[in-house]
Amino acid sequence: MARATVLGRLTWRVATVTAVRDETPGARTITLDVPGWPGHLAGQHVDVRLTAPDGYSTQRSYSIASAADGDRVELTVELLPDGEVSPYLARVLSPGDPLEVRGPIGGWFVWRPETPEPVQLVAGGSGVVPLMAMIRARASAGIRTPFRLLYSARGPRSALYRAELDRQSADGSGLDVTYAYTREVPDGWGRPPARVDAALLAEAVWPADREPAVFVCGPTGFVETAAGLLVSAGHDPRLIRTERFGPSGGQR
Ligand SMILES: Cc1cc2nc3c(=O)[nH]c(=O)nc-3n(C[C@H](O)[C@H](O)[C@H](O)COP(=O)(O)OP(=O)(O)OC[C@H]3O[C@@H](n4cnc5c(N)ncnc54)[C@H](O)[C@@H]3O)c2cc1C
Repeated sequence: MARATVLGRLTWRVATVTAVRDETPGARTITLDVPGWPGHLAGQHVDVRLTAPDGYSTQRSYSIASAADGDRVELTVELLPDGEVSPYLARVLSPGDPLEVRGPIGGWFVWRPETPEPVQLVAGGSGVVPLMAMIRARASAGIRTPFRLLYSARGPRSALYRAELDRQSADGSGLDVTYAYTREVPDGWGRPPARVDAALLAEAVWPADREPAVFVCGPTGFVETAAGLLVSAGHDPRLIRTERFGPSGGQR
């Protein structure tokens, strides 16, 4: 009901693609110019609507990857080869093309730069997208709130934003990044491919007594497992915000 009420106030806007950039072999960032964009908070998402010449229309949700920056909005879309919408966004859409978007959407899974608590981010796969928006919002606000990111990806080649995360975690501003590779690890990595478990969590995550604000995002199974492990490690469930990237949208 709340979502319906909020969506009722949002209008579809026709954005223009200004750039596309491959982040990995399977994921592409799309930069949009959205005239009249009202601004957004890190963690919010948009709905994207595609309409075929015969009038068939379908929509999906995509997190905003960029920090607020005028009319510019970036999305990062992971290609699901058998998907209906992501192959078009991640392979076909090109600079100059129009794209219908509606947003920003979401008021719970958001980080505001003025909040002082340390932040723990936990990402599975493309679930890193809204968490990257938080990291970028922190950098663009020039603040040093301690941030930790635990990022589970299949391997180094499928991890998004690696160069930017390396840069930001090396700049001494208080961002700490730990990767958990589930299928392939780089040479000399020192641990076999593995999913996030209680031992890794204990190593990489703020202890519960620091009372961090926790944001967990990724596929539904990942989010449920990670949130369960965090609660077992003593984190207050009220401080854990989750976003599930299960199938979204619908058709008309
Ligand atoms: C709030 C929110 C934010 C999102 N943000 C992003 C984002 O930033 N980047 C991004 O790439 N995706 C994001 N998603 C997922 C996105 O909305 C689509 O679900 C995804 O792109 C697949 O759409 P599709 O049309 O290609 O696949 P579909 O045709 O819908 O589905 C094809 C097959 O893949 C399965 N499937 C659908 N979605 C997923 C998924 N996410 N993971 C695994 N299997 C899936 C379906 O069950 C089906 O079997 C987000 C979802 C939500 C709810």
